Amino acid sequence: MKENTAKMPIMVKRGSNMKKIYFVCGSQDLYGEEVLKQVAIDAKDMADYLNSKISGVEICYINTIKSSEEAEDTLMKASYDNDCVGVIAWMHTFSPAKMWIKGLQKLAKPLLHLHTQHNRELPYDSIDMGFMNLNQSAHGDREFGFICTRLGLNREVVSGYYKNENVIARIQRFADVSGAINYSHNLRVAMFGNNMRDVAVTDGDRVESEIKYGWNVNYYGVGDLLEYVNNVSKEELNAKMDEYNKKYSMNTNNLEAVQEQAKYDIALHKFFKKENIHAFTDTFQDLHGLRQLPGLSVQNIMSEGVGFGPEGDYKTSALMAVLCKMSENKKGATGFLEDYTYDLCEGEELELASHMLEVSPVFASNKPKIEVHPLSIGGKEDPARLVFDGIEGKGIAVSMIDLGTHFRLICADIELIKQPKPMLKLPVARVMWRILPNFAQGTEEWINAGGAHHAVISTTLTKEDIKLFAKLTNTELVVIS
Ligand code: MN
Repeated sequence: MKENTAKMPIMVKRGSNMKKIYFVCGSQDLYGEEVLKQVAIDAKDMADYLNSKISGVEICYINTIKSSEEAEDTLMKASYDNDCVGVIAWMHTFSPAKMWIKGLQKLAKPLLHLHTQHNRELPYDSIDMGFMNLNQSAHGDREFGFICTRLGLNREVVSGYYKNENVIARIQRFADVSGAINYSHNLRVAMFGNNMRDVAVTDGDRVESEIKYGWNVNYYGVGDLLEYVNNVSKEELNAKMDEYNKKYSMNTNNLEAVQEQAKYDIALHKFFKKENIHAFTDTFQDLHGLRQLPGLSVQNIMSEGVGFGPEGDYKTSALMAVLCKMSENKKGATGFLEDYTYDLCEGEELELASHMLEVSPVFASNKPKIEVHPLSIGGKEDPARLVFDGIEGKGIAVSMIDLGTHFRLICADIELIKQPKPMLKLPVARVMWRILPNFAQGTEEWINAGGAHHAVISTTLTKEDIKLFAKLTNTELVVIS
């Protein structure tokens, strides 16, 4: 008899604990107690092995599902557990899939269907009906796969012996992407000022963004920040200047201009802490009360994995925060960049990407210099900024646009390159790359797809990560490679 608890949210402590992935095993009552005991032992063994191999998240064997009630209870629990970022399901035996319907309908977390076996080799000499009945994922996983497809579930399917390196790598990707999706659903974005006047691609449906990705995007007046700027203490300011001196080379005598940015940096950190913000935007059209366009301050904050979009570009800002989360604890660089200008020598076409000021120092190939120069836009005091050349290596550019009916992600393979010659008169940080497979095809496909002039660049992530993110969030994706 079904208990009422199946209909109630199971209260799980919101926690400081490590995030979890539930490992659930499918079976049915038909096989008898002995077989089910073995099923549970094997499933736990498999989950423990995966747990030892997968980083950043705990893989927990939860239970063996033998009935519709158990499926519903377990998948509801996964949905309500704030520490659970995803579910791995594997059918050790046959598990009639109608019993999964109600549970899967209530599953609100990403699902990975692992198609594997506990045994690697077939025991040709000893195999009998007992062995065959116990180990029948070829049978059971197809039944489970059918119901997932019938329900229209966007899940990841990974096939192969569970100890294979490529299977582990695919599960790790699922863990990272699911962790980023969980983060996305708790992401609060602050817009200081609104969208830059008349600009189309940076705008979007913020209600739909919250429905689809969980981004809670709110407007704040610059005055809300100014209060914090005006209350920065001398000690705080000194500590921030020490931090800048350690991380960067001070290539200016105008320390007052640098201190102004240090105040913004401190103020933004305090504001974010108070409002639980992990991504933000500003706009040079609305800086009332700020003496400079935030440059150095924004660059320093971006390097901490906080999302940023200039000119009110909340989508790029949120996407940056999510992709930084996805690439957490891995080598490489992830951050916002703007497409600026080209070198169009035929066959050698290159792009120079930068922004007015705001390029994350994670892209720096040398120690960034703090410099103060005039800014030709905005009519403010000369802002302090970091100036550096960009890193080299393979990467991706990812853009999100709002087509009115739906969001679209555009992901292009790029190759970051060393700038061919110094650009001594360019007073901003810059990164150079070529789009693949070549300039004409790459940029034509980008423009045909409606890709923005703002993108998140990553040398950590690959298009496979973005493909999985798009699949699990049911987002349209155009891949250029
Ligand atoms: Mn821009």
